[in-house]
Amino acid sequence: MRYSALRVLKEALTGHQGWRPLWRDPDPRPSYDYIIVGGGGHGLATAYYLAKTFRQARIAVVEKGWLGSGNIGRNTTIIRSNYLLPGNEPFYEFSMKLWENLEQEFNFNAMVSQRGIVNLFHTDAQRDAYRRRGNAMLLAGADAELVEAGQLREMMPFLNFDNARFPIKGGLLQRRAGTARHDGVAWGYARGADARGVDLIQNCEVTGLHMENGRILGVETSRGYIAAKKVGVAVAGSTSLLMQLAGLRMPIESHVLQAFVSEGLKPTIPGVITFGAGHFYVSQSDKGGLVFGGDIDGYNSYAQRGNLPVIEDVVEGGMALMPMIGRARLLRTWGGIMDMSMDGSPIIDRTPIDGLYLNAGWCYGGFKATPASGYAFAHLLATDRPHETAKAYRLDRFERGYVIDEKGAGAQPNLH
Ligand SMILES: Cc1cc2nc3c(=O)[nH]c(=O)nc-3n(C[C@H](O)[C@H](O)[C@H](O)COP(=O)(O)OP(=O)(O)OC[C@H]3O[C@@H](n4cnc5c(N)ncnc54)[C@H](O)[C@@H]3O)c2cc1C
Repeated sequence: MRYSALRVLKEALTGHQGWRPLWRDPDPRPSYDYIIVGGGGHGLATAYYLAKTFRQARIAVVEKGWLGSGNIGRNTTIIRSNYLLPGNEPFYEFSMKLWENLEQEFNFNAMVSQRGIVNLFHTDAQRDAYRRRGNAMLLAGADAELVEAGQLREMMPFLNFDNARFPIKGGLLQRRAGTARHDGVAWGYARGADARGVDLIQNCEVTGLHMENGRILGVETSRGYIAAKKVGVAVAGSTSLLMQLAGLRMPIESHVLQAFVSEGLKPTIPGVITFGAGHFYVSQSDKGGLVFGGDIDGYNSYAQRGNLPVIEDVVEGGMALMPMIGRARLLRTWGGIMDMSMDGSPIIDRTPIDGLYLNAGWCYGGFKATPASGYAFAHLLATDRPHETAKAYRLDRFERGYVIDEKGAGAQPNLH
């Protein structure tokens, strides 16, 4: 079924009897050509592009819970391509370009809103670093502008300019960045994949990987054994657990990241803002809630909920940046499990097991990568060659010393 204004009108006039579920609910078949483990944004996007762009068939996505129950439905919805390093920037800009046409492409309203992002700077050294990053973005075909404090004061008068411990000197602005409705993205990809024959199998946990002579033959699941020619793993925070089933130790740690939303307020915040003197970022949802977040909790965990000390730390950052936030009431907080890689950058690669492929290491930033990650992973699965923009995302880069340390923080996952 194609969605259109005409369809909405027709359904309104005929009692909304014609709407269909977004996807089927099939039982697993005995075998597939491709099994994607993980029905999050990356797994669903991978299946979608495998079927649509790479014209592959006999594809299943197996998800232990319901589609979109992981980080894709828990993030703070920010999309951007303001990266510095050559390993990252072209990939994220490719993703940005896919975002810009996504809703038309999969015919689903994912509320992609290019409302802009400003990374604030508070020192001259930080201005230099952001200028450099902006230039790297321009070289990769992205947009970037350096704005000074006066201009920001007009755009965001509620920021603490006059009495701040860390005075705002300006910001790096990317106007094409913004937000998208995270679960809408999962549903759009799921619907598009299902329409092209992909089986989306929910409540189906992968509990074992069947391998012989260094080759994958299928997966053991809570709904029985399923044979497969190729298996792609995209399970975000559960990556280490899943890959352990293949006897592989990952350069990844799992950490909790929390997010927060306030009660609904009148339109206040024009785009996305990140604080440069602490870890705090904020935007406003279309319902009016201030959506914000900060640091990971800082210890290894598989719990999808966080602790109070980080809540205190995040709201301290918010108060330092925009004291008016102290008058808003907090509505909800929640957490997701992050797949923190050692250098803060992702992995899209083959593994030492033939037919087993890995998509992981997204840290805080995998939502914005969803379209490009799905596309590049599908490219790898279908052709056995890395996509042009994802060539640096090798699994063995840590042992070879080719890390992509965007933050310059060193091989310490809790700092990325
Ligand atoms: C609080 C928070 C805020 C964030 N904010 C942003 C942001 O603003 N911008 C941004 O770019 N990124 C953000 N992120 C990061 C982003 O959400 C993730 O990097 C990205 O969603 C991860 O990819 P995914 O969508 O495929 O993961 P997920 O949605 O977590 O998908 C993985 C799936 O695998 C399933 N699974 C696990 N084990 C198994 C198994 N054994 N068998 C079958 N299925 C299994 C899980 O149930 C899950 O559904 C944020 C994350 C969090 C938690």
